[in-house]
Amino acid sequence: MKSVTVKTEFKEYDIDLRKGFSNLSDTIKKSGVKGKKICVITDSNIEKIYGEMIKIAISDYFDEVYIKSFTAGEKSKNLETVSDMYKFLLDNHFDRKSVIAGFGGGVAGDMAGFVASTYMRGIDFVQIPTSLLAQVDSSVGGKVGVDFCGTKNIVGAFYQPSFVYINTETLDTLPEREFSAGMAEVIKYGIILSDDFYNFIWDNKEKIKERDKDIMSEIIAKCCEYKAYVVSNDEKEQGMRAILNYGHTIGHAIETLKEFQLIHGECVGIGMVSAMKIGVDRGEVSQKDLDKLKELLSYFDIPVSTDGLNIDDVYNQMFLDKKVSDSKINFVLTKGIGKAYVTSDISKDEIINAISYVLK
Ligand code: ADP
Ligand code: ZN
Repeated sequence: MKSVTVKTEFKEYDIDLRKGFSNLSDTIKKSGVKGKKICVITDSNIEKIYGEMIKIAISDYFDEVYIKSFTAGEKSKNLETVSDMYKFLLDNHFDRKSVIAGFGGGVAGDMAGFVASTYMRGIDFVQIPTSLLAQVDSSVGGKVGVDFCGTKNIVGAFYQPSFVYINTETLDTLPEREFSAGMAEVIKYGIILSDDFYNFIWDNKEKIKERDKDIMSEIIAKCCEYKAYVVSNDEKEQGMRAILNYGHTIGHAIETLKEFQLIHGECVGIGMVSAMKIGVDRGEVSQKDLDKLKELLSYFDIPVSTDGLNIDDVYNQMFLDKKVSDSKINFVLTKGIGKAYVTSDISKDEIINAISYVLK
């Protein structure tokens, strides 16, 4: 199966897409990870389903394997859980040569990465993502961190893993809602980078919904290539990497205001509709494309609007986002499908119109 290489300033690593966990030890060996002691950080759901399986697979290479789990869900992604992990590592004599694995969805990966980046000023870190969202997005590129005081990912670091190992078969057990949320990020790659890929998703939507193995492998590989390409060009988000935030500016504001009612990918779906509405108003995207996006998102049960929110609240929340600099919002827009650009030249009226378009 496929491998994709990510090249960053100090590190080059592979994303290996495989069926099952049996190739994991090969990936570990070729990655250059040296330690023989590992702590697998995972959530309570994943531990139940895959705990034994990962332990067996990883014991092929590591002499000492520890599994440390936390209660599944975004609510656990905080410094308290991190502190609990530091304690676990200290109690079990983890040292500079030990390794940490993030095993699970984005929450496990982001938090494990943050722990790895700070414990003893940084120890080896590997990613084994199991949710679609983590496989196509959050496990690649080195953004790690936790939420703090109601703001998502506000405490964190750039810390690249030594490898990403994607067992595509873990998608079999992913809950429907999480699968849909992951599809929002998949669709995003098409909109910002490739109309061919966007059309591919459209043409294969039935098979995707059935989670057809071959199609899903192809899709995940493609998304990893896109993400690797963007991250390799702009690791620290000085420029191009910002296009990955398509749909995220308004999406994040909605996510914060709808605290724990809507999940990340769902808010990205709503945010993309909103961003594309700005494109339509500017005459850069056709109404037909916007209607098609809404149809595609709806097909995957991703919401295209939300209720119970006030326009001004969403607008103000956007300015509290960490990506605002000098109170200017960097907005990602597209010219048609497949060509994203970043601009701060956007009026309050345009934003207000776009927000009201997705509020019921
Ligand atoms: P995300 O991956 O969307 O950033 P989480 O890490 O919270 O967010 O994962 C979403 C939910 O899906 C969690 O409850 C997690 O336990 C669950 N999950 C992740 N991967 C799988 C899987 N392969 N099988 C079953 N449940 C999974
Ligand atoms: Zn996202």
